Amino acid sequence: MHMRRAFYIGRFQPFHLGHQAVLEMIAKEVDEVVIGIGSAQRSHELTDPFTAGERVMMIRHALGNSGIPHYAMPIEDIKQNTVWVAYVTARTPPFEIVYSNNPLVIQLFKEANVKVKQPPMYLRSQYSGTEIRSRMLKGEDWKHLVSPEVADVIEEVNGADRLRNLAMSDDP
Ligand code: ATP
Ligand code: MG
Repeated sequence: MHMRRAFYIGRFQPFHLGHQAVLEMIAKEVDEVVIGIGSAQRSHELTDPFTAGERVMMIRHALGNSGIPHYAMPIEDIKQNTVWVAYVTARTPPFEIVYSNNPLVIQLFKEANVKVKQPPMYLRSQYSGTEIRSRMLKGEDWKHLVSPEVADVIEEVNGADRLRNLAMSDDP
């Protein structure tokens, strides 16, 4: 049987309900989803607090009960856009379509003659990694913006405390 596979990439800092809504939509159109965890080498930064392994955990637990067949794979940055599509396809299961709203991702795959679809945005002002990290830093509520399983992973690794510690300065 021919499996239809899609590719979806993000940094997932953290994996939130907007990502999950997009994946549920994609799963209706293909058999399996290859999820690229971008900037995989980054962690412990204000814009990228979680490790690749922690992001794998978030996705595994969030999608565990949803029946979305997927492979979540860390993808490290390569600072050479001309070879990025080949770099990605060399380390992922084969896919025939890409879902993205990121202009660079769209441009690079289109130039490589890969079909690209732009999924709709779900309540982008709330469901945004930037918004969630900002709430964590300020000690505001953020758990309603991620699935309970993702909230558990973030709690397990003390994610909000980590962000607040990263924001401190050693200058007087
Ligand atoms: P950040 O603010 O850190 O960039 P983000 O919410 O944009 O976080 P990414 O990991 O950058 O999350 O996003 C991965 C992909 O998911 C991107 O293509 C982005 O456009 C898309 N995306 C993010 N939020 C939503 C949303 N609410 N609805 C649909 N797609 C989303
Ligand atoms: Mg983004």
